[in-house]
Amino acid sequence: MNCDCHMHMVLDGIDWRAAIARHSQKPNEAFIHKALEEYRRNGITYLRDGGDRWGVGAKARELAPQYGITYRTPLAPLCQKGHYGGFIGENYVNLKEYARLVADIRQRGGDFIKIMISGLMDFDRFGVLTEEGLPEAQIKELIHIAHEEGFSVMAHANGARTVEAAARWGVDSVEHGAYLDEAAMQTMAQMGTVWVPTVSTIGNLLGKGRFREEAVAAILDSALQNISDFAAMGGLLAPGTDAGAWAVPHGSMTEFLWMEKALGKDAESILSRGAKIIQKKF
Ligand SMILES: [Zn+2]
Repeated sequence: MNCDCHMHMVLDGIDWRAAIARHSQKPNEAFIHKALEEYRRNGITYLRDGGDRWGVGAKARELAPQYGITYRTPLAPLCQKGHYGGFIGENYVNLKEYARLVADIRQRGGDFIKIMISGLMDFDRFGVLTEEGLPEAQIKELIHIAHEEGFSVMAHANGARTVEAAARWGVDSVEHGAYLDEAAMQTMAQMGTVWVPTVSTIGNLLGKGRFREEAVAAILDSALQNISDFAAMGGLLAPGTDAGAWAVPHGSMTEFLWMEKALGKDAESILSRGAKIIQKKF
């Protein structure tokens, strides 16, 4: 597979605070060159960044052609103030402010809009998210406003109801997508939503002792089962490592191994179908 549809140049897979500090004055070009070289060495020719507010993804996009890489960035991810994502994104307090940020991203040359609409998995407790997702009416408006501006929309979303709502209102890709159920997956499959499960952020925790091992193993099992079920429904899946997240280094190829575990020998052909759509829309 020659693309990574979800990564964060600003992060380093080790320590997010130190990683962000590295770029706080201006994007650290030496770091970016090194990461791009890793991707090139692994045969990657397309990267889609999850965004950051320090201009690191934008700088990477500028440097990427030297490495034969097409690089897409939303500039900063947009998040509702007080909810998950504020550490890396730009905050809005209401839809009017969100619309202004979307217009601003248009003007500053963002390639797409990234929205944060749910919390994270609690890796110590199977089935638990760090917070509830945003209300469906709001999710609908976030997607609608971005589409009206001509952008495709990437959504950080976990939890069946949040993901189902985003899919119903036409989100272009769902990132992570923990704890999906049949109804959520059916809606995604019907709407042609591309799911980027970023299994590496879970699987790469195994044996590290950072979180409760039984919880990590249960979360991983449920993700792999859902991926396999979703593929069986004809759903679209694309590879994204979430490189930069803890234990996921830039240029890491672990995502393909996890996806092969879920999809068997068809992994390559299934993923390339979804990846093609990501590269067309984003
Ligand atoms: Zn991410």
